[in-house]
Amino acid sequence: MTEGDSALRSQIDTGPAVSATPVGTILLIGTWFGIVAGLTEGVGLLLFQRINWAQWGRLMHVSKEVLWISPLVDLFFFLIVTLLVWLLSRFSQRIPAIRLLVFVLMFLTIYDWLTLTNRLYHRACVILALGVSVAFTRWIAKKEAASITFWKRSTPWLFAVFLLSLSAIQGGKWAHERIAVAKLPAVSQSTPNVLVIVLDTLRADHLSSYGYSRATSPEIDRIASQGVLFENAIAPCSWSLPSHASLLTGRPPSQHGMQNVQPMPWWGWRKNGLGGFPTLGEVLKHRGYRTGAFSANRVYFTRNVGLGRGFIHFEDYFDSVGDSFVRTLYGREFARLYLNRTEKSKVTRALRYMRLESWLDKDSEGSGDFGGAYGVRKRASAVNQELLQWIDRDRRHPFFAFLNYLDVHFSYGGPQDFPKPDWDRRTTIDEYDAGLKYVDDYTGRLLRELEQRGLARNTIVIITSDHGESLGGHGLTYHGAALYRELIQVPLIISYPPQIPSGLRVKPPVSNTAIAATIMDLLGAGDQAVFPGPSLSALWKSPKVQSWPDPISELAKTDIIVPSDRVVEGKIPIATNGWMRSLVTPQWHLIAHEKFGYQLYNWADDPDESRNLIGTSEGRATALRLAAQFDAWTKAP
Ligand SMILES: [Zn+2]
Repeated sequence: MTEGDSALRSQIDTGPAVSATPVGTILLIGTWFGIVAGLTEGVGLLLFQRINWAQWGRLMHVSKEVLWISPLVDLFFFLIVTLLVWLLSRFSQRIPAIRLLVFVLMFLTIYDWLTLTNRLYHRACVILALGVSVAFTRWIAKKEAASITFWKRSTPWLFAVFLLSLSAIQGGKWAHERIAVAKLPAVSQSTPNVLVIVLDTLRADHLSSYGYSRATSPEIDRIASQGVLFENAIAPCSWSLPSHASLLTGRPPSQHGMQNVQPMPWWGWRKNGLGGFPTLGEVLKHRGYRTGAFSANRVYFTRNVGLGRGFIHFEDYFDSVGDSFVRTLYGREFARLYLNRTEKSKVTRALRYMRLESWLDKDSEGSGDFGGAYGVRKRASAVNQELLQWIDRDRRHPFFAFLNYLDVHFSYGGPQDFPKPDWDRRTTIDEYDAGLKYVDDYTGRLLRELEQRGLARNTIVIITSDHGESLGGHGLTYHGAALYRELIQVPLIISYPPQIPSGLRVKPPVSNTAIAATIMDLLGAGDQAVFPGPSLSALWKSPKVQSWPDPISELAKTDIIVPSDRVVEGKIPIATNGWMRSLVTPQWHLIAHEKFGYQLYNWADDPDESRNLIGTSEGRATALRLAAQFDAWTKAP
């Protein structure tokens, strides 16, 4: 930094006294640099997100909207810098305003471009950017008049490119949706809407209706009392991406193939993603549904990872000013420097004073789990707002809406401005439960909004989760590392008063991959060829059904486990060493590991799964008997 500083100082010191530069010229230069830096940044962020795909879990993500958001943010930021330089030049006539401005803006532009690669140390970016700006400023100094003419001629064109990208991207999205909706086949007015709510990371045993001692879920309990509650619903995997892919295709992870993050094909996802299987969105769209996804999990339930197929409308990134800002390069820098300060720091207090406290509400996107910068959290209140606005735009077609609320997910506790429950003494579990209380409240609010619109009675409501959370069980903290019961037992509640009895509780273990087939069954399609199911309706139509396929969960070998869960490596079998599989029967839970063999728990007597029975002769015999189901499973078509 010293080398660059001294070079600049020597230029300023030895430069001749200059007359005041017109503010118009100064603003022109600021605009030129802002748009050039931002347009290149937008393209670069998209490009390097694709190139750095192996680091997906640690990245801050973007979609094509960044092509107009980055220029807008850079333009705004660069114009502020420009005005500061102009003020400085007014203060001292000896400061060569144009050269100083070109130096500063060139530095900001080059630093921006180097940083977005995500491959260089910050310090290296600073030094390189300083070197380039010193050289460029020297070069410009010799051709100042010609450069000003160039900036004057090219800035209107650049501005046109910026406006074109803004209108092409936003207009293109609008037109695409309008055309897709116009093409929908007409359906009868009485066709029910379908609302699937995924409360990401919610283990079933923390809901009051699943026997928890705290009143964490009065709203969800009320919905359960109007429908059927599956006491032992099992998620197909213990982390978001494979589980969401299963919810959408009705297939287990080994069939749809999305067991880990896959690099996006250069020209976007096509129908051959997800094993080529149809998605719930696609099937419902063909039946005349407007389909929409509203995701707060911007790492693993997004269009970028290949889960957008079948959704006419998808809201993941850029849902607010704060979110749009932190996805640009200088927004990320701002988050890195200022959004991780302590509660008492001046920056945090200033942000609160400016009513920007929602920016302090941290998401784990952007390497938060790994100790890096954090994204701005998208709360259930925002997800609800997006959904209701979308519903209100068009009432001619029934809707299929798929929601992901991330409020139970780390970091726990719910938003700071939401009242803390009485039990909350700030322990991990207190905070986890507080996040649940918040999202429960907003689930209730959403359903009341639907009631006010006269839509509630004609809407199939399904509440579930993609996986649970360890919260200390088996020495683990988060999820995605193993398949213990706390990681795969999730809530499953289906409410549709015209067809489903109220207040029913179903005991046999079921897989929530059956949700897709169950929806089709409720709509009268009963199309088992599309989604294998079987539909869960048999369990509420004749509650005495005793035999049901035992749910299987799968977890592929993975490297994306957060450091605090990785510490158990070598102590218990986890997925960093090999794939895992699990089978839940009404009494047993068998867990298989590629390298470490079986674990067996009698979960009916030992719900915490503290006694591994594989060492007993009875346990070994039971495990071998149950393991035959895995073989049948892998041979299934
Ligand atoms: Zn998840």
